[in-house]
Amino acid sequence: MDVLTSEQRRQNMQAIRAKDTGIEKTIRRIVWRLGYRYRLNSKSVIGRPDLAFISRRKAIFVHGCFWHRHPGCRLTTTPKTNPEKWQKKFTANIARDTLVQQKLQEAGWKSLVIWECEIKDRAALTERLQAFLSES
Ligand SMILES: [Zn+2]
Repeated sequence: MDVLTSEQRRQNMQAIRAKDTGIEKTIRRIVWRLGYRYRLNSKSVIGRPDLAFISRRKAIFVHGCFWHRHPGCRLTTTPKTNPEKWQKKFTANIARDTLVQQKLQEAGWKSLVIWECEIKDRAALTERLQAFLSES
């Protein structure tokens, strides 16, 4: 049984989105400190990545584990209300993500997905970002 009203549910979803934004900011800060400059949500790049490095042809996507369905992650829950509706939404998200990755690759771009839960280990995250950005 669902214990949340639709208003509470809406507020929860907003909180999740706000959290996503916090992750993006953290990633931006790390990348900036590493000395890389980027374009934010550039419409000229396939899939409008969170961070785009145009001349390097590299893109970073910051994915919330819930919305983008991080496999095996404890944040990848499914709401009890309208599971079919949610499943449909999730399936569409995954299909879109996969298509974007594929199209970027075809266009000669490299892309990196950072998951929300990876933010906990700042050192490992910084290392991953550095490795991705420095590789030619
Ligand atoms: Zn996760």
